[in-house]
Amino acid sequence: MPAKEIAPKDIAAPLLAWYDRSHRRLPWRAPPGANAADPYRVWLSEIMLQQTTVAAVIPYFEHFTARWPTVEALAAAEDGDVLAAWAGLGYYARARNLLACARAVANDHGGHFPSTEEALLSLPGIGAYTAAAITAIAFGERAVVVDGNVERVVARLFAVEEPLPGAKPALRALTDTITPTARAGDFAQAMMDLGATVCRPKSPDCLVCPIIAACDAAQRGIADLLPKKAPKAARPIRYASVYVLRDGSEILLVRRPPRGLLGGMLGLPMSEITDTPAPEGTHPGAPSLTRWSRGEGRVTHVFTHFELHLTVFSGDLSGITKPAGDWRAADESAARDLPTLFRKALDFVACIGDF
Ligand code: SF4
Repeated sequence: MPAKEIAPKDIAAPLLAWYDRSHRRLPWRAPPGANAADPYRVWLSEIMLQQTTVAAVIPYFEHFTARWPTVEALAAAEDGDVLAAWAGLGYYARARNLLACARAVANDHGGHFPSTEEALLSLPGIGAYTAAAITAIAFGERAVVVDGNVERVVARLFAVEEPLPGAKPALRALTDTITPTARAGDFAQAMMDLGATVCRPKSPDCLVCPIIAACDAAQRGIADLLPKKAPKAARPIRYASVYVLRDGSEILLVRRPPRGLLGGMLGLPMSEITDTPAPEGTHPGAPSLTRWSRGEGRVTHVFTHFELHLTVFSGDLSGITKPAGDWRAADESAARDLPTLFRKALDFVACIGDF
């Protein structure tokens, strides 16, 4: 348990004053004090920011909101267009849920996001964190918003020594004790900004921190050591083969099955994923009987729960019947709509001079 109690006013007042001066200017944000922001933009940004950095999200957010400025416009979009626009952002289940959620809001809620956490939680792809963030930031209602940045700040403020992820419930309960009713959205964003810019994972800048007077870890000189983390299990390695098949100036892309890894995305033809590499000389999942040449080495790509090692084959149709699929010009535009994993495979083939 934390060694001390902190009065909410000792956090909210200095933190909000700091936020008014030092907030990050981000394209989905309302100015400090506005006490509400466009729910569509808040929701879209929060979905994009899951497991993804702010810097990576900004161009995607700007592209999406220029192309689909309202939730109704997004709801009416073609699946393939949205998945292509999402390509490169990763965690593709988010893109499928994004469309499902936009359509639920458009069809079941008259195009308006509901304003309570409970109702938001019933929408596809919206979990506890996102529901709380939308409630606070878009509707200005009090909600306990805890992302990774907030966990770190709170663990240090209260000098919580229990390691993550076990400490999550305690950190949420402690965040609840310091969350004000007034300016709920600004408070949530201020905590996120403090974690991102001052209370950083390494070398927190305590000397400029607006809440150092209340911070137990800073007073005890242990901020750098918190939050503690339980050791992670090693990611297992898994294997697959991918194929870059050319016909003159075109290459073959295929739409992946709607469910499962990279579901619904456009990709290169790929085998099943297995626990061991395919035997030498075999071509599991190959789209044709082409004479395949294999690049030396493998392309690796890290997913949340495993690391994928790809063997990359390339080949020409040269007179063989053209398999069905989405044949694209073999230039940069072919890579643009692909998830990073497949872009890496195309780069790999280009590097060995075979593309
Ligand atoms: S004083 Fe240091 S450790 Fe404490 S909240 Fe501020 S930056 Fe983080």
